[in-house]
Amino acid sequence: MSGLTGSDDVPEGEPLLEVRNLCKYFDNDGGLFGGMTLDSEFPFVERNPSNVRAVEDVSFDIKKGETLGLVGESGCGKSTLARTVLRLLEPTSGSVYFKGEDLATISGEPLRQKRQDMQMIFQDPQSSLDPRMKVGPIVEEPMQAHGMLDDEGREARAKELLEKVGLDPQHYNRYPHAFSGGQRQRVNLARALSVNPDFIVCDEPVSALDVSIQAQVLNTMQELQDEFDLTYLFIAHDLSVIRHISDRVAVMYLGQMVELADKEELFENPQHPYTQALLDAIPVPDPRSDGRTALLTGDVPSPIDPPSGCRFRTRCPVLIQPEAFEMTDAEWSNVVAFQRAVKRRAFETTDLAEIRRRYFDDAAPDGDAETLIDEALGHIAAEEWDDAEQLLTESFADASVCATEEPAYEVAPEYGDGRHYTACHRTRDAAISADDAAKLNAVETPHAGGDARADD
Ligand code: SF4
Repeated sequence: MSGLTGSDDVPEGEPLLEVRNLCKYFDNDGGLFGGMTLDSEFPFVERNPSNVRAVEDVSFDIKKGETLGLVGESGCGKSTLARTVLRLLEPTSGSVYFKGEDLATISGEPLRQKRQDMQMIFQDPQSSLDPRMKVGPIVEEPMQAHGMLDDEGREARAKELLEKVGLDPQHYNRYPHAFSGGQRQRVNLARALSVNPDFIVCDEPVSALDVSIQAQVLNTMQELQDEFDLTYLFIAHDLSVIRHISDRVAVMYLGQMVELADKEELFENPQHPYTQALLDAIPVPDPRSDGRTALLTGDVPSPIDPPSGCRFRTRCPVLIQPEAFEMTDAEWSNVVAFQRAVKRRAFETTDLAEIRRRYFDDAAPDGDAETLIDEALGHIAAEEWDDAEQLLTESFADASVCATEEPAYEVAPEYGDGRHYTACHRTRDAAISADDAAKLNAVETPHAGGDARADD
């Protein structure tokens, strides 16, 4: 099918998209202009304590022809990141280079032209199609907006694309309601393809579909990728979907990227505790399972005031013990569980014997840690919960390296030869230097410019 495939400006395997230190904050002051985006004065934005820091310092590349899967819990910033990459939202700071051009430096007609190359498919195929329009004109609409072809040419191309995405071209005159969910998503695909893009952001495109239909649509997307030379950023919260379609996988937590690796490396050799928890939560028999704690406890912190250091530290099951103590793993684990329970006011009793039995029956720390625990218990007995929380948080949680230093490491992969980035201090001993990282498959990782840190 001549004239339908993407351009060859960027050689296969070279970065098509380069995202550098991208931040997106929203104003959350609740006033008249609350909820509006702030995109002008960066220093002011940095100082505003009420900003929702939806995306923070995210960097990655997507090579031409690959699919980067982006996974994370609902509300972690995946969709905001995607929309900011496409400049549907203005970035607060950072850069997005598409085919080497910084999108932040263009606007108006040049940006509109650029958008022809960058399309997006949304989750809900029902609401993203105008019910009053027939599918033919729906597919033709973007071509018309970009001045492509004449009426006859657009109709021919729309019918050709409907066939390419697995629909009957004779359905050109049908309305969206006559199609199933999977078929409507195929119409969306045809619409996105109509302007001959190089890059498509797919935001949970199969989440609303029956599981039996998901695989069919994903297979069609893969076939279209080969035929049209497409590059995908594929967002999903379902790891089995991500595994099906991705070449590399990025994991997001609370606005930041915490791990990025080739698909096999990420699934078989996950390094970040959050990724491990996501994988452990997949409801299928997992021969890789080694009995790690599968469920995450605690609420996701607010992106208005995210934790210092590692953002995952308030829920991390393997928070690192502060250097000042020498507790066993079991003792430290009990201290963390106790500190978090006090923070959540998770128990009402002030019966100290009962609290000790509940939290320290199998392993109780001695020395300085014991003294601090006793002091905190004294506060609880006096119903001074705030004092107990402050003492425990400052002495233990906030004294961890996880709270004082932001982690960013590259490790040598066990599977394949791609780069493996992970934002966890537990990998620091295995971290490789930036030079060694650069020798691996030369795609940048979440901290830009090959800035891998082997801190120690
Ligand atoms: S840096 Fe610390 S808190 Fe963060 S994931 Fe690693 S061990 Fe857990």
